[in-house]
Formats: sequence, structure tokens, C-alpha cells
Amino acid sequence: MRKVVKFGGSSLASAEQFKKVGDIIHSDAERRYVIPSAPGKRNDKDTKVTDMLYACYAKAEAGEDFMADLKAIQARYEEIIAGLQLGLSMDEEFKIIEDNFREKSGEDYAASRGEYLNGIIMAHYLGFEFIDAASVIIFEENGEFAAEKTNEVLSRRLGKVEKAVIPGFYGAYEDGRVKTFSRGGSDITGSIVARAARADVYENWTDVSGFLVADPRIIDNPPVIETITYRELRELSYMGAAVLHEDAIFPVRREGIPINIRNTNAPEEKGTWIVESTCQKSKYVITGVAGKKGFCSVNIEKDMMNAEIGFGRKVLQAFEDYGISFEHVPSGIDTMTVFVHQDEFMDKEQKVAAAIHRLADPDTIEIESDLALVAVVGRGMKSTRGTAGRIFSALAHKNVNVRMIDQGSSELNIIIGVSNADFENAIRAIYEIFVEVQL
Ligand code: ASP
Repeated sequence: MRKVVKFGGSSLASAEQFKKVGDIIHSDAERRYVIPSAPGKRNDKDTKVTDMLYACYAKAEAGEDFMADLKAIQARYEEIIAGLQLGLSMDEEFKIIEDNFREKSGEDYAASRGEYLNGIIMAHYLGFEFIDAASVIIFEENGEFAAEKTNEVLSRRLGKVEKAVIPGFYGAYEDGRVKTFSRGGSDITGSIVARAARADVYENWTDVSGFLVADPRIIDNPPVIETITYRELRELSYMGAAVLHEDAIFPVRREGIPINIRNTNAPEEKGTWIVESTCQKSKYVITGVAGKKGFCSVNIEKDMMNAEIGFGRKVLQAFEDYGISFEHVPSGIDTMTVFVHQDEFMDKEQKVAAAIHRLADPDTIEIESDLALVAVVGRGMKSTRGTAGRIFSALAHKNVNVRMIDQGSSELNIIIGVSNADFENAIRAIYEIFVEVQL
């Protein structure tokens, strides 16, 4: 067995956390390749090292004095090194960083140092080899990640080392300039390494015990989802259940490598398994429920719409012309509704409405705001009778008025539109009927 393990920033924020991580790695010889994030927050008021680096570099770029900021960053690492009693000095590394900042080496280079330095410390602490991600994670000149080239170079490199630390979040162009992924991108690096190592599992260690059935800010102590498919995960993450970077599933998915989300602070818990497909039934009919507030609906009516070929295209053209992406488009015989993000749409609403009039010539257009979407997701719904019935009676019991219903043809999810004010109640109603009552 070969395991690739990624640790998030809060798992590496202090020497104490590093020790937990060290124990986790040493307790299993199969944990061979380690991807660290930069040190995260030690408490609620703390700042992530990545954010400190961005702020420090902004000063350097503006020609301001940045030394105090850089010293504060160095102090974060010194504290970890001292706590682990490693005989390691970061002075030389910080001198190089200072020089590069003066030469305006770029924001990506600056941000990447958080993972780079943490990687050096981690490799030292574990006694593993350090592989600079800039030498194995490759980007094309146009900024796109070079998946195949990276896989070739990285597989070859990993073939030569038994155990290694590869910092997350960044790579480099062929000319050596550093480039980062988007924020939270160490998850992606972990997935890329898992693919190249042909790992049996990609363990992603964080500060929660996996994906939860519902948002803990709305529901007290919701259970952890034991197994979730990639598609279910996509639906839930899209609706705001964020534990893993969205792009992190692609490299491992194509190789059939499962992801196991684990909690550094509770390593005995099994966490969540993310898999392509499974015959494991989820404990409840639904796998999870999630949602987002802040949508608008644009309701368009036209007599005999159903007979008019191309009507939908013309309506959607109006949104496309103004660069607005749509979320859902439920339709009736003579009506069509387009759900959009309120903050994206607000400034352009009159222009879009005018464009719909011009392009599609409808009878009326009506815009409603402050709507929320709730997604009930579950591979089990397909084979269970009465799911929709239970959802809507639970909502009715809680006096939640349903404004829109959209069931994907995959039968993997049911999307319900409610007003923002009803959002939390709707989530509670659905949670209660499927998880607490467990019928
Ligand atoms: N340190 C980077 C960030 O804060 C990347 C990561 O942690 O995954 O976004």
C-alpha cells in the first residue's frame, strides 16, 4: 500500500500540531509522500502565514519597508523549529526571500514561500527527502497546469525516493518562475502527487472529521458522511459545503484513487471516503443537505412559448451577453425561470431585461430577489419511494413556502428554492425528517 498524505494549515500551525502530524505519519509506514500547507491560524484571531506573505509582498512591491512583516513571518517558523527542537536555521532562506522581494519576484513566488519553508521543516522533522514543488509541478506558459507533463516528471522523481515531502500550493513554469494554484491549492498538489505515485489512497488531513450531513452552523452536531461519491460531493460543495478544493478531485478521480478526509485532532476517527462509485448505502436516504442564499429569479412568460423553437436560447443569450452565469432554469408550458446570483445580476438587471425583450419578445418579465436554493443530495434517492413527498411535507410543516422545485434527471439531487428568510428552517426541516427521524 502506498498513501499520499496532505496536511492543511491548521494541522501545521504550531509545534504541537506538527507533533500530532509526525505521530500520524510515523504510525503508518505506508504514509510515504507528505504534502504540507503553510502554517495556518493557531486561534481565531491569528493570521495565516500565506496571508502574511501576501501583505508583506504588497509592501515590497509598493516600495515600502517590509522588514518588520518579514521578521514576523520568520518568527512563526522559528517558533515551530524551537518547539520541535530542530537544529535548523532559516536565516539563509529568509535572506534569499528578502532579496527576491526587493527584486519584485512576484506575488505567486511570495505566497509559495509559506509551503516551501514548511516543507523544509517537515522534511527535517520526519527525516524524509525534500522535493521542491517548483521542480516537479509544471505550468504551461498560458498559466494552465500541465497535467501530463507533470505526471511524467513527478512519477519518475517519486520512483527514486522511498519517502518525501513535497510542499503544496505551487509549481513553476518551465523557465523556473513560480506559479501558485488558487487559494487552498495544496489539496490539488496532494491529488497530483497521489496520481503520480499511483497511491492506494489520498489522505487529506484537516481540522474536521470529514464532510458533514448538514452545515454545523445551522444544525447542532450533524453526523459525518462516511462515504460520498464524487458527483454527490460536487453537488454539496457547489452549494457551499467546503472542505476540499474543487479541483482536487480531478487528478485522483481519473485513476480511481479514493480520497479520505481525516481529522488531525482526532486521528482515530475514520473520516469521509470520497469515491467514484460505491455499493455502500448511505446511512440515511439522503447523503447530505446544503444550500446558499442570495439568488434572484427572472420569470419570463410568453403565450405559446412551448411552440416557439429557439425561445430558451434567445433568453439565455441575454444572460450570456452580459457575462452572467445561470444556476437553474426550471420551465413550464408558457413560462421559463432563470436563477442567477443576486450580487452578479443586480447591477445589470435592467440591461438584461431589455436584452430579453429585444431578443425573445416575451409578454412579461418579473424579477424576484432574496431567494435561497437548498440542495438535497443522495445517491439513495433514486431507489427510494416518496423522497420528494417527505421533503415537501416536512417543509410545509415548518411553514416554509416552496418557490421552485428542480429535480436533476440523474435523480441525485432535488433543488428547492425558498426565500432567504426561510433558508435555515428549510435545512432544519429536511435534516429532521431524514436524519433525526430516520424513517
Ligand atoms: N496556503 C495556501 C492558502 O492559504 C494554500 C493551502 O493552504 O492549501 O490558500
